[in-house]
Amino acid sequence: MNKKATEIIKHLLDEDFDYDKTIADIDELRIRYRQQQDEDNANNAWAIITIVGIHRDFRKVFSMLKNRQYYDAWCLLEQIEISIGNLLRNIKGVENTVKYISVIVRQLQSLYPYKMFMSTEIVIKERTCSICGKKRIIRQHCGHFPGRVYLGEFCSDIINKWELKGVSLVYNPEHKYAVAFLGNGKEGQKDHYNYLLLDGLMELWKDPYAAWHYTIKHIHKSPKEFPGLHDSDNCPCGSGKKYSDCCKNDPEGIKHVVYEFRPGLVGV
Ligand SMILES: [Zn+2]
Ligand SMILES: [Zn+2]
Repeated sequence: MNKKATEIIKHLLDEDFDYDKTIADIDELRIRYRQQQDEDNANNAWAIITIVGIHRDFRKVFSMLKNRQYYDAWCLLEQIEISIGNLLRNIKGVENTVKYISVIVRQLQSLYPYKMFMSTEIVIKERTCSICGKKRIIRQHCGHFPGRVYLGEFCSDIINKWELKGVSLVYNPEHKYAVAFLGNGKEGQKDHYNYLLLDGLMELWKDPYAAWHYTIKHIHKSPKEFPGLHDSDNCPCGSGKKYSDCCKNDPEGIKHVVYEFRPGLVGV
């Protein structure tokens, strides 16, 4: 298995790598190891499936960004983040390409304009263990911990009974996919966000495995660069305040943030 794993990982970055077929093949092995009660090999198979899945999704994110499907890419980025977290919890020493993806995922998320999220407050009334099906009761632990892998199977809580207490708008969501959009259900949701930074990045980022990072520079612009700017307009610095209550009073000019994209990772 380990020899096979090394072989697979060596080819993960190949242009024509067949992620879905590899996952299906390894899954057959995983099921066989489970039947043989071979914990180490079953868990190893789970880890390889997870790694291959992370690479497959990362490539998908890249093409979604190319096609300006920014919200779809955002949701998949969250899935990748969760998969990497699951992997790190279960194996020692994660491979370099996964580390690379984890850095790029965080950088991409930081370039998104999303600030507000919907959050549901749910009271969980009953949950069971996905491995053994026993109810989670505080004093009677079944011995399986959510987030851990047992005999090649990922343990999670299955929620059977729950009650919705309310929905609220928050800045730091539990689920990143719950982005707040304008509009209502009838007209469909409208994506009113501005993706200038991602547009700028995608002009330069040509290959998912070509590393990049960005630096932020704070500069000031002269009001002359904004002809027709009135006191009552929103300040061009993006503070949300009126121009007359914001940068008009700054002798240096209008605050402006410049993102500069550069090749390579920071500190690597
Ligand atoms: Zn259990
Ligand atoms: Zn301002």
